[in-house]
Amino acid sequence: MSCGVYQAKDYKSELKPIWCPGCGDFGVVQAIYRALTAIGRPPHEIAFVSGIGCSSRIPGYTTAYGFNSVHGRALPIAQGIKLAHPELLVLVAGGDGDGFSIGGGHLPHAIRRNLNLTYVVMDNQIYGLTKGQLSPTSPRGLKTASSVFGSLEAPVNPLMYVLGYGARFVAQGTPADMAGLASLIEEGIRYPGFAFINVQSPCITFGQPEAQLKAHKAEMKSLASLGHDSSDRIAALTLAQDYGEKLYTGLFYRDDTPGGTYEEAVVARQAELAAKAVSRERILDAFVPR
Ligand code: SF4
Repeated sequence: MSCGVYQAKDYKSELKPIWCPGCGDFGVVQAIYRALTAIGRPPHEIAFVSGIGCSSRIPGYTTAYGFNSVHGRALPIAQGIKLAHPELLVLVAGGDGDGFSIGGGHLPHAIRRNLNLTYVVMDNQIYGLTKGQLSPTSPRGLKTASSVFGSLEAPVNPLMYVLGYGARFVAQGTPADMAGLASLIEEGIRYPGFAFINVQSPCITFGQPEAQLKAHKAEMKSLASLGHDSSDRIAALTLAQDYGEKLYTGLFYRDDTPGGTYEEAVVARQAELAAKAVSRERILDAFVPR
C-alpha cells in the first residue's frame, strides 16, 4: 500500500539491471520498490548496502544512497552507517555465498547486537557471478562446472542458522509471490530491530532453476495456511528444518518483547556518561596509564 507521496518509480534508478533474463533477482528488486513505496521514506533517507555478487548489484538499481561494498562485509558497513546515522533507513542485501560463507562470521554478531536493519538474502544456492561454483546453500549432490561429480557437503540452512543465533525477525519469501515478498520486506523494515528475510531467488543460468521453479510452483506453502504461530520460536525451528525440502513462505518468527536496539543502547550509554560528567580523558585513563 502506498502512502501516496512516493511511487515505485521514485525508488528506481536509471541503471538498467544486467542480470540474466529470468533471474529471480528482478522480482526481488520489484518487491523492494513496492515495500519502499509503502513505507514512503524519501530516497535520500535510505542507505542500501550490499557485498559482492549478482544480487549485490541491487543498491545500484535504486535511488537510495548505495554502497556495493566488499565481499561478505555488507553487515559491518551497514551497522557502522546505522550507528553514525540512526535516523537513516538502512537496508542490506546480498547472496547466500556473501552472507553465509565469506560473511558468515558477521551475521551472528549483527543478530546479537540487534541494530535496526533489514537484511535481504537472495538465496540461489550457487555462486552466479563467478559462473556457477558451489555455494554454502548448494544441495548435496549438486553438479556444477567446478564440481562435476557433485557436492559432498550438506548445505547451510539459513533459517536454522539465524534462528539458532537468536534472530528476532525471520521470514522467507520468493519472487514467485511478489505481493507476499513485498509485504514481508515492508514488515521487516517496520520491525524495530534486525530483520532477516531469506528469498528463494532462482539462478536461471548456473543454478538448478528447474528444481527451484518447480518447488516455487508446486510446493510453495504459506506459513499462515499451516496455522503457524510466528511468536513460537520452537515451532519456527521445527518448520525451518524443512529448508531445501519444502518451500515455506511468510513469517517464521517475530519477537515483540521489548529489548531495544544497539543504537538506542549506545545513545543511552552516552547520556548516562554525560550525566555523570565522565570526560573523554577519564575514560581514556582507564585504558592508558598516565
Ligand atoms: Fe541471476 Fe544467475 Fe544470471 Fe547471476 S548468473 S544474474 S544469479 S541468473
